[in-house]
Amino acid sequence: MENVYDLIIIGSGPAGLAAGLYGSRAKLNTLIIEKDKTGGQIVITDEVANYPGSIREATGPTLIARMVEQCEEFGAARTKDTIVDVELEGDIKVLKGQKGDYKAKAVIIASGASPRKIGCPGEKELTGKGVSYCATCDADFFEGLEVFVVGGGDSAFEEAMYLTKFARKVTIVHRRQGFRCAKSIEEKARANEKIEFLLDTVIEEVKGDGILESIVFKNTQTGELTEYFADEEDGTMGVFVFVGLVSQTDVFKGKVNMNEQGYILTDVEMRTNVPGVFSAGDCREKSLRQVVTACADGAIAAVNSEKYIIEKFGE
Ligand code: NAP
Repeated sequence: MENVYDLIIIGSGPAGLAAGLYGSRAKLNTLIIEKDKTGGQIVITDEVANYPGSIREATGPTLIARMVEQCEEFGAARTKDTIVDVELEGDIKVLKGQKGDYKAKAVIIASGASPRKIGCPGEKELTGKGVSYCATCDADFFEGLEVFVVGGGDSAFEEAMYLTKFARKVTIVHRRQGFRCAKSIEEKARANEKIEFLLDTVIEEVKGDGILESIVFKNTQTGELTEYFADEEDGTMGVFVFVGLVSQTDVFKGKVNMNEQGYILTDVEMRTNVPGVFSAGDCREKSLRQVVTACADGAIAAVNSEKYIIEKFGE
């Protein structure tokens, strides 16, 4: 007989894993599909200070490892595949993956968000050659070097703090004077001797022959351009970009309602406009993108998926 899952969850960040836990505990035949690394954004975070209870072993990878274990203990299956198309209107939802098709009575989209790029010349060519979007992954390449962190949100400040363990100097480059990060982390950064600030500034271009050698800064008030070269002895430096997130929802465009930025619209029960299709976590329109809110979304979406399946299929 054709395999139709009760519930398929797309994405295995905190939202997807929480949904997997609640779905499988409710005895739904549950599959979690992930295209990339398990864990989403948080798995590249060194410190998780604000998820309730995570005061010891509070790193992204350990928290995710525990979530995965808990999910699997209750029987949720997991697979790696990239969903390239979806048919969501029918009673049985069809997800077309690169490796094959998947069918389910209910679907939770928890596909998350990915780092936004600066969009300046040289950024693409020098990614992995001085330009990075993940301090946990790349910080040790910059041991003793100078690095610049772009952005004024929680990610920029948290990652700048982390980078001070490796780099000799960390400069936070932000396009205005005020920051949107939590006050507590701003205070910590201001108290850190290794951190300096370059405000009212954006990066206009990054340059280098196979490795980052210079950065062209633009003052947002005066328009003045300044080219900054890596110290001659170092030969290179780092640019870590944390200028926000972009929703990973392209494959669902035209299939569920979204806002202009591509974040999926749901009601408070995590229902999209399509019956049997729910959304949870960073990929949906919301005001607070945190592990704790992602987990809450996942739990609500799974409980409502169960209700939907009982009402629709009488099981
Ligand atoms: P964010 O809060 O959206 O902040 C992005 C920052 O980048 C802003 O300061 C923004 O400047 C700046 N920016 C945006 N586009 C830019 C551009 N093209 N050039 C230069 N600067 C640009 O992003 P985030 O820090 O990645 O955080 C994403 C979400 O995750 C947020 O909801 C955040 O609270 C959450 N988060 C939470 C924690 C935590 O609670 N521990 C940790 C990390 C992330 P403006 O301020 O001028 O707009």
